[in-house]
Amino acid sequence: QCAAACPFGAMYERTELDEVKAAIADPNKIVVIQTAPAVRVGIGEEFGYEPGTYLEGKMVGALRALGADYVVDTNFGADLTIMEEASELIERVLHGHGKLPQFTSCCPAWVKFCETYFPEYTSHISTTRSCIAMEAAALKTYFAKNMNIDPANIVSVSVAPCTAKKFEIRRPEQNKSAEYWGRDDLRDTDYCLTTREFAQWLRDENVDFTAVEDSEFDKYIGAASGGGVIFGNTGGVMEAAMRTAYKFITGKEPSPEPLTKLEAVRGMDGVKEAEVAIGDKTLKVAVVHGGKNIRDFLNEMKANGKEYDFVEMMACRGGCIGGGGQPRVKMPVADKVKGERITGLYNHDAAMKLRSSYENPEIKAIYEDFLGHPLGELSEQLLHTTYVDRSGDLGVRKDVTPETCPTSPKFKK
Ligand code: SF4
Repeated sequence: QCAAACPFGAMYERTELDEVKAAIADPNKIVVIQTAPAVRVGIGEEFGYEPGTYLEGKMVGALRALGADYVVDTNFGADLTIMEEASELIERVLHGHGKLPQFTSCCPAWVKFCETYFPEYTSHISTTRSCIAMEAAALKTYFAKNMNIDPANIVSVSVAPCTAKKFEIRRPEQNKSAEYWGRDDLRDTDYCLTTREFAQWLRDENVDFTAVEDSEFDKYIGAASGGGVIFGNTGGVMEAAMRTAYKFITGKEPSPEPLTKLEAVRGMDGVKEAEVAIGDKTLKVAVVHGGKNIRDFLNEMKANGKEYDFVEMMACRGGCIGGGGQPRVKMPVADKVKGERITGLYNHDAAMKLRSSYENPEIKAIYEDFLGHPLGELSEQLLHTTYVDRSGDLGVRKDVTPETCPTSPKFKK
């Protein structure tokens, strides 16, 4: 255990930095590290850069300096998430296969909150796995095959802005490569480090981040579109999904605007709503970030019966750029810093040639050479998951009824 996450010492952040360092030192292990979208606009703050400075090349170079055998991009996993999630949305909206609204699934804190407090909505959460989980499943199957590496020798590490991912990687449902290979000694993601732990690791090893030379991600699962880049901020998943859903439904390119700059879902408002015209269909969408906003939104939706087609939910204010594992910022400047991180991601997206997930050449290759097609048999096996009812964690016993409870007046002996 390391830095206390609670000022009163009641709660601790558990680190696996020692385990990762041991894997790096083990010549029999191949350490593959993936980096989430928000890390590249956060890590610089630990070393004196202005908030929002986009440091992708330096981040990759720093991980290589620390001894990573391969560095791959969670943004590729984000593009893969969009391919599946947009396809699932189309199935629900156009073909009536599944409940509406569809909720996003990439935030494990939101997913667990829903399972615990609103279990009646778990069937609304997209079955599509999160971008980190997608990347990890592709790593220990497709990447391992292409690189001719025994997946049991791979140590899969994710560097993320998120403390909740440490929980997500241990969910039994999030372990698809073991099923694929028919062996029980595999886990899709072995360890998760936060952005702050990554910074600590650099300090421990005396790596001067400011002097590190830029490097590029490794191939097969290392390329991304602008849609993958903006996954790191509130509204980004929605905008990326709309770009690809537009292409899938109409057959036309969503560029240049409005879908490559969906203003209505951008910015720091806690709840943002929009109507997005796609072909002859108008999708009603909403983007919600921050725990209280999520609770209020769901209670209001239940009370007033307002209908939506697709809702993005992120537990942290600002989305993942404001995650619990990012460099700490305090009020009153927190929103300003988060806004600068968001601008860093949008600026990079705007400068990219490929803006939509379906355009990513490595995404095309993984479907052509390995998966088949979105929602196909192998995609369903590796890239989709299930959720559970956790309301019992609150002490509500589903197996006890008034008739079986000895303290109830309706108890029947
Ligand atoms: Fe993690 Fe926060 Fe992003 Fe959710 S919004 S995935 S809790 S960093």
